[in-house]
Amino acid sequence: MSQQRPRIGVVGSSNVDVVTYVERMPAWGETIAAPRFEMNFGGKGANQAVAAAKLGADVVMVSKVGDDALGANVLANFAALGVDARHVGRVADQSTGTATILVNPAGENFILIVKGANGDLTPADVEAAAADLATCDLILLQLEVPLETVTAALEFGRRRGVKTVLNPAPAVTTLDRAMVRLASFVAPNETELAILTGLPVGSEDEVARAAQRLLADGVETVIVTLGARGALVASPAGLRRVPPAKVEAVDTTGAGDAFLGAFARYYAGRVGLDAALEKATRYAADSVTKRGAQKSYATEAEFERLVRRD
Ligand code: AMP
Repeated sequence: MSQQRPRIGVVGSSNVDVVTYVERMPAWGETIAAPRFEMNFGGKGANQAVAAAKLGADVVMVSKVGDDALGANVLANFAALGVDARHVGRVADQSTGTATILVNPAGENFILIVKGANGDLTPADVEAAAADLATCDLILLQLEVPLETVTAALEFGRRRGVKTVLNPAPAVTTLDRAMVRLASFVAPNETELAILTGLPVGSEDEVARAAQRLLADGVETVIVTLGARGALVASPAGLRRVPPAKVEAVDTTGAGDAFLGAFARYYAGRVGLDAALEKATRYAADSVTKRGAQKSYATEAEFERLVRRD
């Protein structure tokens, strides 16, 4: 009998990034020509969903887009990648979430975020997807949709015995500790860890102490992503460093999302916590060697080839 595919739920954002590369930033009221334009699919929720799907998981996406052309594009992208988007709603008279980005030749940028339909994802949408989410091995959550919706999904996970991963990104200072404790895994980067705990994270020791503070607060397992330094896991079993894969970084956009999508897929694939973290670290490292977020994510076949070569 063939092994069942890991099943991942994502309750989170779907965005379109519209990126214009400029020779210089325009002044107010000025119109200038720019050499290049790019449109990329993004949003932390969608990125994590796509990473897990590319790695062969069955992915249920719970999200909202607008009734505009960008919303149709987002749905087409999910369809092309095999993400189950039956619970991606379209909101009338609302725009799809966007990030409008200007990048100059030095790589400096201006970014404007419009949350659009992401702001309309409600606890009722989680309820409406309950039958599908209940069959998932793991549910991934971030903070680009309303906090009450994230809380509803965390509570759902507790109630129905589905493990949850809370990626507290982008960082907010007003997170309720009781809410954070509901997650099976809390997975911040260093900045988010500092904001979450109010503790310094300037050294490895400080990162470890801040992670342990979350454990003392009642979080089961803390996974801190450390960029080029890999990751750190704190659990009742102790602290463990996950060493990075050494790569030539080209673009780290979406690396954290690659990490979490891969972690979810492999953890749900029952390889064990340590092996899932090693896979996630390797997968995210590969994503930083290529430009973009979703388009830098390897498929399962590509990733397996890469791991065989290591
Ligand atoms: P971050 O969200 O920046 O902490 O990155 C998430 C994960 O991506 C890290 O935990 C690493 O596994 C991986 N990663 C990010 N940047 C690099 C890099 N420059 N070299 C290798 N791995 C990286």
